[in-house]
Amino acid sequence: MAKQLFIKTFGCQMNEHDTEKIAGVLSELGYSLTDSPDGADMIILNTCSVREKAEYKCYSDLGRLLELKKKNPDLLIGVGGCVAQQEGGKIVKKAPYVDMVFGTDNISDIPKLLEKKVETSKGRVSTERRRKGLTLKTEKVSSLPVLRNHPMMGYVNIVDGCDKFCTFCVVPHTRGRERSREPEEICSEIRGLASAGYKEVSLLGQNVDSYGKDLGNNVDLADLLHMINDISGIKRIRFITSHPADFGDRLIDAMVKLSKVCEHLHLPLQSGSDRVLERMKRNYTYPEYKEKIRKLREAIPDVTITADIITGFPGETEDDFNKTLEALEELQYDSIFAFKYSKRPYTPARLYEEQVPHETGKDRLNRVLEIQNRITLKKNQACIGREFNVLIEGESKRDKGNMTGRTRGTKIVHIPREDDISAGDILTVRITSATLASLKGEVIR
Ligand code: SF4
Repeated sequence: MAKQLFIKTFGCQMNEHDTEKIAGVLSELGYSLTDSPDGADMIILNTCSVREKAEYKCYSDLGRLLELKKKNPDLLIGVGGCVAQQEGGKIVKKAPYVDMVFGTDNISDIPKLLEKKVETSKGRVSTERRRKGLTLKTEKVSSLPVLRNHPMMGYVNIVDGCDKFCTFCVVPHTRGRERSREPEEICSEIRGLASAGYKEVSLLGQNVDSYGKDLGNNVDLADLLHMINDISGIKRIRFITSHPADFGDRLIDAMVKLSKVCEHLHLPLQSGSDRVLERMKRNYTYPEYKEKIRKLREAIPDVTITADIITGFPGETEDDFNKTLEALEELQYDSIFAFKYSKRPYTPARLYEEQVPHETGKDRLNRVLEIQNRITLKKNQACIGREFNVLIEGESKRDKGNMTGRTRGTKIVHIPREDDISAGDILTVRITSATLASLKGEVIR
């Protein structure tokens, strides 16, 4: 019988995709995924350290896993992802029952780490050996076996790491410098997905607009999109995350020309204040950002635009913050991810004086959400009566009488379940109602 593997994933799509790779590597060692930690032979926490309390969450989860390990001493426990990269040997010191700690670039080393565990199981597993899974590699991102979570939508890494070093962000310290995959390797992976019935691919990177800069072959994201657009079977192409300093006309042009590239852009703003943007080392001003949005909307009037916002960055005054609120009103995003600033290890901003009090940051976050919720609802309600192309993803998680899918602009749509509708279908749907979180519609036959 296959050994049971449970993986708990924190964080973004990059981490979700890392989980698929961890599962892929371990499936070759005879593990199959289970959705419960009880009775599992191996449990892995795939951690994220972008937000506050990540380490705390990791240790509190490990505390719970200790109880399972006491019941089953053969249970293997692993910690992967950014917290593993960041905390390193501290994890083993604080939780000595952890069998394996590996960084974001060491998924391919899991079999070796497990072998080491087996080799030394009669004696003590040394901290040094466990730490060997934590080196930040500098070589190109390699293709790993992937056990995909979804039968028709696939994540594909195109670039790993980040060279931007925004002053609040831990990612360049945990995921290392930018490394792009060769276009042919990416296309080959996507051709494989297409032949397995995949309809949609999401190209992933911390900064996808930087794709190719390190390859020296003059291929950028726009070129890559052209290549992928030619792959038959694939119906939709997405890419995430863009960076305002690098996003430009060539990409807008590709979005206009290429029929499979979806009309959605996630372009983190972070702040509407140039003073704050400079202290964040974001390398653009608000007017420059606004101009890119203007050009994009001029080229694709129906485009969905989403963004990230941080409130309470060190030194953010009420005046700075009001500029962010003004930006939300002016830019009219479809939705945003907003967070209160939190100090992250290794980052310069954690040492900045003028840290904004927790309550102020929280209050500003609530004010941001209040404004954005109003805008998002208004935008969703404006969809009522319109028809959209919806890719059905499967049964609705909340209501078994509904199927759920997404528009090309990434809005969630629920439709009544019917026998002849199944996951992977692309249907024309007329929207009949809207909430803050989703749309409801009926299929046009
Ligand atoms: S662009 Fe900035 S925020 Fe994004 S991953 Fe790189 S350093 Fe972090």
